[in-house]
Amino acid sequence: MIQLQIKNLEVCHGLLKAVRSIDLEVHAGEVLAIVGANGAGKSTLMRAIAGSHSASQGSIHFNGQDIGDLPAHERVKLGLSLVPEGRRLFPKMTVQENLVVGAQIGRKGDWDVESIFEIFDNLVKRRHAKAETLSGGEQQATAIGRALVANPEIILLDELSLGLSPAIVDRVYSILPKLRAAKTTIILVEQDLSRVLKVSDRIICMLEGRIVLEGRTADLTREQIVEAYFGLKKSKNEKVQS
Ligand code: ATP
Repeated sequence: MIQLQIKNLEVCHGLLKAVRSIDLEVHAGEVLAIVGANGAGKSTLMRAIAGSHSASQGSIHFNGQDIGDLPAHERVKLGLSLVPEGRRLFPKMTVQENLVVGAQIGRKGDWDVESIFEIFDNLVKRRHAKAETLSGGEQQATAIGRALVANPEIILLDELSLGLSPAIVDRVYSILPKLRAAKTTIILVEQDLSRVLKVSDRIICMLEGRIVLEGRTADLTREQIVEAYFGLKKSKNEKVQS
């Protein structure tokens, strides 16, 4: 089932077209990874899907509903939650308060504040600590928790690993199987190709705002992805650029 359908999407920062003519379908329950070099437009695409940045052209449908004009909090209510690059927690609020804010959206489901403390038990002793005092890993866990307590159908995870040690990244990624088992759709921006190849069902590679490679992870080689990543040469899975 197509859960998210994006057509001819264009997103600008002033005069700069950061996302250009993107067509993309995301199926319920899949793990879609978005890769690409710095500045390729991955975060801008994620923010446009989540409603934190308006598109200048094109459409976004979620479960058949046109959500293009809805603000971010309305999209969260429908079941679309973003864990933004840089986490963007409420710094003066405690871990628990950040989670409670996420839960206030009121969507029913398996996740609540206590179940977040169960999966991220490193947060238990930091429950009443202000977000600004947390380590990077604790902040990331809180940011993921804040998105999960809204019980999303689609969770958008932007650069989970940024600035974290490998052990902490492993810990953060250990929740993915749980999300997959719960049939939560995952859209993931990740720089670590080995990890992408391990966890995703499908990969898109962006270059200069466009999708230049798209395919099932099982059908793509690391070489094809790296070539698309750097725009080195065309591969057979490559999308035709306009
Ligand atoms: P990174 O991995 O570095 O986060 P990215 O693929 O996520 O890169 P974006 O952050 O979406 O790429 O940036 C796409 C383009 O838009 C880049 O040229 C970037 O400089 C520009 N850009 C991003 N955010 C802004 C902003 N707030 N104001 C102006 N330009 C921006």
